[in-house]
Amino acid sequence: MKLTTMFFLFLFASTTAQISTQQLTGQTTNVENALESDAQSAFNKMRVAALKDGIDLKIVSGYRSFNRQRQIWNRKYKKYAAQGLNPDAIFDKIVEYSTVPGTSRHHWGTDMDIIDQGATYSGDVLVPNKFHGNGPFCKMKDWMEQHAATYGFELVYTLNENRTGFKYEPWHYSYAPLSRKLLKEYLSETNFLTFLRSQDILGMEKISDERLLRYYNEHIKGVNPSLQ
Ligand SMILES: [Zn+2]
Repeated sequence: MKLTTMFFLFLFASTTAQISTQQLTGQTTNVENALESDAQSAFNKMRVAALKDGIDLKIVSGYRSFNRQRQIWNRKYKKYAAQGLNPDAIFDKIVEYSTVPGTSRHHWGTDMDIIDQGATYSGDVLVPNKFHGNGPFCKMKDWMEQHAATYGFELVYTLNENRTGFKYEPWHYSYAPLSRKLLKEYLSETNFLTFLRSQDILGMEKISDERLLRYYNEHIKGVNPSLQ
């Protein structure tokens, strides 16, 4: 390759890749676990509006680092390995409810799990039946269905039988103006298999390429179409 061609390729690469793999995988320094500032200010505006309608929005999980996700992963991996499951079966069990470290949308600072802290509730909060029927967060869910999009927020893991991947999560919202870009970057700039194989994640060397690629297609891409 001619030097001039290489130079232009370099220029091209440096202007298209605006977001680093570190940022996309939760590995940049963020000691305060802060959300992206645009996502936080959009949330603040939505919060004020919801309060006027008697709903007290609270983020129970916002930014989550790679290291935090790896703690969760490793704990679950050890538990299922102790039950004698093989690596691909362990993978199946964990990704029912948790993400592989480096693949969580919570790494992006655009996604959050929300409840209504003004409601009367007890026990685990992130369970679907608390958002349906007579559940404590029904009022919030109705409000979000009507107003969230006005502030840029979309539900990620919708109740839609054609959607693949993670189960329905009526609490998980994403700040779409930013996360749409990040998903595109994630899918185009990150070499998924190479990345995961290079990380110190329990069991990762034993899980098959086929299983990891299925997760990539079903889980990472399996989001609300309005976020794609
Ligand atoms: Zn979530």
